[in-house]
Amino acid sequence: MKVFKFGGASVKNAAAVRNVGEVLNAFEGEELLVVVSAMGKTTNALEQLALAYFEKKENKNELYKVVKNFHDEIIKDLLRVGSANTYNDIENLFIELECDLETIPDKNFDKVYDQIVSYGEIFSSRILSAYLNEAGIKNRWMDAQNFICTDNTYREGKVDWDITNNLIANKLKPIVKKQMVVTQGFIGKNKDNFTVTLGREGSDYSAAIFAYGLDAENVTIWKDVAGVMNADPKKFADAIKIDAISYPKAIEMAYYGATVIHPKTIQPLQSKHIPLFVKSFIDPSAEGTKVGVSKEEEVHLPTIISKGNQLLLSISSKDFSFIVEDNLSKIFSAFAQHKVKINLMQNSAISFSVCIDSDAKKIAQLIKTLESDYTIKTNEGVELLTISNYSENGFSRFIKDKKLLIEQKTRNTVQLVVN
Ligand code: ASP
Ligand code: MG
Repeated sequence: MKVFKFGGASVKNAAAVRNVGEVLNAFEGEELLVVVSAMGKTTNALEQLALAYFEKKENKNELYKVVKNFHDEIIKDLLRVGSANTYNDIENLFIELECDLETIPDKNFDKVYDQIVSYGEIFSSRILSAYLNEAGIKNRWMDAQNFICTDNTYREGKVDWDITNNLIANKLKPIVKKQMVVTQGFIGKNKDNFTVTLGREGSDYSAAIFAYGLDAENVTIWKDVAGVMNADPKKFADAIKIDAISYPKAIEMAYYGATVIHPKTIQPLQSKHIPLFVKSFIDPSAEGTKVGVSKEEEVHLPTIISKGNQLLLSISSKDFSFIVEDNLSKIFSAFAQHKVKINLMQNSAISFSVCIDSDAKKIAQLIKTLESDYTIKTNEGVELLTISNYSENGFSRFIKDKKLLIEQKTRNTVQLVVN
């Protein structure tokens, strides 16, 4: 049994969806679960739409039309005129979305967000499933929310692994054994029956959750790139594909900014030794990258990963006390309270510095909590570089025009906060 994940770019228009059909054609007869993301940039569009309705903005109807027209165009191009049922299904889904938008009952924006934004994956999976059936690739559409059970952390759902695994192993697996299943990434449900999303770009993670519960042979993430690269090809013309990497290395790369895999994806796969392939949907027979090889088999290319849009926060106490356990514990609880993830930290006797994602709203709340006891300095617009397997001379060229703010080294890796 295999799990395939197709991201937004792989279903961004009718031609792209047809291409997914071609990729899948080559796997006829396999036991296959297909996980799909929202089409193209639909999630961004739905984010704006949810906010516009929540805040009763004037452009809310226009934003709705953009999403509707985008999908209508794809359907018109893709499906036969005779597919009345599918047209009706999707039309009905849009009516449901409109009803949900018009009757937003909740004061909790994160909860509203999840109920609205999750439509993107429902649309894409419905359309893909219908198209594949028409094209002779028989499959069954299933709702991922019936299998992935989360807590109530809207927009960043935490998976209840026991319940989820039970459902996947006992209810979904027998179906996948009989027929290809098309389902959604990114979404699950809580015990109150509300949709909870797993965090932006979370469809890779969904694929891993399904693979774990199915005890899949492997997972393939189909991308518009050749595989995991040793640097961002948009920034470095000499970037090359890495053929094979270990799980720990992939976790490190994903966590520190290689956007090709969602960071939460690897650990569930690692715990069951399920290999992950990252392959090109443009050139499906090419090798791609294999994640999950042993440290010995790993190819040690120099890698450089950049995480942009970062903020450096330096915190020192107002009462001249040292930054030791009692201060650190207060500081960490403020970070936990406001759900601010720390990408890198460094402390000295009198100050504690962290590099975090620049999320203006969260940071304002964090500073509000801390500012009565601490002096806080910020450096905006910094970049976190994670560089491995380079000699000192090899990587100095990446930072020559930049101001170095923090440097941390382990044996093979150096992390730099630069401006
Ligand atoms: N559609 C969601 C997003 O764009 C999930 C995903 O693409 O992985 O964040
Ligand atoms: Mg996406």
